[in-house]
Amino acid sequence: APVVPKHILDGLNPEQDRAVKSESRAVVIQAGPGTGKTRTLTARIAWLLRENRAIPENILALTFTNKAAGELSDRIESFISKGGHLVTAATFHGFCLKMLKRYSDFKRGLMEDDLRFEMLGLAVKAVTGEKKVLKRTVSKLDAWISRQKQQLKEPGDEGQGDAANNGIEYFDPVWPEVYKTYDQMLEERGLADFEDLIFICFRLFSRDAALLEQVRQQYKFIFVDEYQDLNLGQYKLVKLLSQDSHIFVIGDPDQSIYGFRGSDSRFFYRFEQDFPGCEQIRLRQNYRSTQTILDASFQVICTGDDKDNERHKIYASLDGTQKISINETAGEGAEAVAVGKIIEKGVGGISFLSMDKGTGPDSGTDKEYAFSDFAVLYRTRQQAQAFAQAFEKVGIPFQTADREHWIDMAGIKDLLALVRIFLGRGSNADQQQFAQFLPRIAALSNPMDTSTFLDTLGGWLDITALGQTDEKLAAAWQRLKTLADRYSSPGELIDNLRLDQDPDFLDKSVEKVSLMTMHAAKGLEFPVVFLTGCENGTIPFARDGKTVEDPDEERRLFYVAMTRAKEMLYLTYARKRRIFGREQQRIRTCFIDDIEKKLARYEKGKKQVKKPKSKDIQLELF
Ligand code: ATP
Ligand code: MG
Repeated sequence: APVVPKHILDGLNPEQDRAVKSESRAVVIQAGPGTGKTRTLTARIAWLLRENRAIPENILALTFTNKAAGELSDRIESFISKGGHLVTAATFHGFCLKMLKRYSDFKRGLMEDDLRFEMLGLAVKAVTGEKKVLKRTVSKLDAWISRQKQQLKEPGDEGQGDAANNGIEYFDPVWPEVYKTYDQMLEERGLADFEDLIFICFRLFSRDAALLEQVRQQYKFIFVDEYQDLNLGQYKLVKLLSQDSHIFVIGDPDQSIYGFRGSDSRFFYRFEQDFPGCEQIRLRQNYRSTQTILDASFQVICTGDDKDNERHKIYASLDGTQKISINETAGEGAEAVAVGKIIEKGVGGISFLSMDKGTGPDSGTDKEYAFSDFAVLYRTRQQAQAFAQAFEKVGIPFQTADREHWIDMAGIKDLLALVRIFLGRGSNADQQQFAQFLPRIAALSNPMDTSTFLDTLGGWLDITALGQTDEKLAAAWQRLKTLADRYSSPGELIDNLRLDQDPDFLDKSVEKVSLMTMHAAKGLEFPVVFLTGCENGTIPFARDGKTVEDPDEERRLFYVAMTRAKEMLYLTYARKRRIFGREQQRIRTCFIDDIEKKLARYEKGKKQVKKPKSKDIQLELF
């Protein structure tokens, strides 16, 4: 039996302990941010293994990001001596691909975005006879087809009127036909898009009773993190699998921020109906943030009828009474400089925790922050640029949460394009660009092990030679080769590279300030957090500057972002901002008005004192 060190199960509070050791078949934890939901889920897995109530092969833990799945796996492997890797901790998509490969003759390959857009364009042309299709049309169509698939709707299932729109802003009556054609094209060419994975897997399980029984027998214990983010397809899959199994889910409907992607927190509220007699547990002790940060975020999430709603109340365990800081600046350049100055003070030894009336921002204390203690959050990716410029100028190291760069490096990227061409999954753009290699690719023999195959292509591109003068390329090449050893075919390697890419990757091991969208910050925590661009139109976001698409979801997003902070929270906004090249007057976000004045310190930018050195960055403090 696996040996579980005691510590993962130590220090749990009574509610967490009850959840970990529950005897109920179905358990749902509904609790606010930082209350240890994810930790409790992990501890429950440890406990089940330690008590020999489950073997690792019985456990399936589903998450929304590879990062979350990876952390769960790492933690499980670190506390059980052997067999940890036999626990299935995966994203929904990753799990479904695994099932399809294991239990069906699914041989389709995942497409990169550019190929998917090409295929969508081809399908439109085939149906309408149009010669040219606008990019805008394709991206709207893409959103609609993705939504259909997320909801397990075949072409023809779309219904009439608003139902056909299905929550997507635009719908063209020709789309169902395009959807059908697109799907036929993918099938003929052995291709699949991301959303196909869950859809096809669901179909497989629901049409083959014996197989479904076998899968249910294996996964006797099912766990889902962030249950409030489920979309219809994911929800139906979970229900299908958990018919007789133990199911343990955690979530926080206040943190539901993926409505635009088809997530629906109503599935969370339906858990009680779906699993009658389930055990419901609430956690109220927060281990992440100071009480001030919790109070302020509570005031933002509870408005109107909700004002005194007990359900949101959680209590801090962390000391610290400093106010949150609300900073007005002149423009986006000034905002970035102001944030940079605060970071510089922090790494120079200012403790935000003791920064109270007595100890002003200039007095200094013993605590020194590392650059990695700071996170700069924004609503839209465009806002990152001003920070990148300002930080580069003064030498503040930073990283931007992004798709992992190593596979996009020149050399590696080219090599992967060649692999895709070989697999018949190259986009047109790839085929232009690599025309010279096409005959050689055609001449490659099929059965070759993945590593040898990569070496051959790498040889054509001189990767090893280039790597001798380019350390980063050499490291990336090594990484790719290591991965290749894990997979039995080039197709499998490419699929897993695609699946393993979170759009918002952060390297936790580096001493850098993290820049990311508010969405990307979900589930994370940092000692000092800056919420930037706190202006109406930015958060809540309005695409056209006026109409906010879903004000409640924007509010929840603001709440998620605020509750990432442990010790100190800054809300910054600018009086003017350049949007699509045009300068606009800005007003600070209405969400700030919901925060009691006494919880915050208000700082205002001074009038400009010095002539700006560069056009973009105004040297100005608030
Ligand atoms: P979110 O809603 O943001 O995802 P969460 O509820 O999943 O938050 P966790 O990330 O699991 O919260 O925990 C928040 C922090 O509190 C982590 O640093 C975790 O290690 C710590 N923590 C959780 N439970 C305890 C406990 N009983 N004792 C000490 N620290 C704890
Ligand atoms: Mg969590």
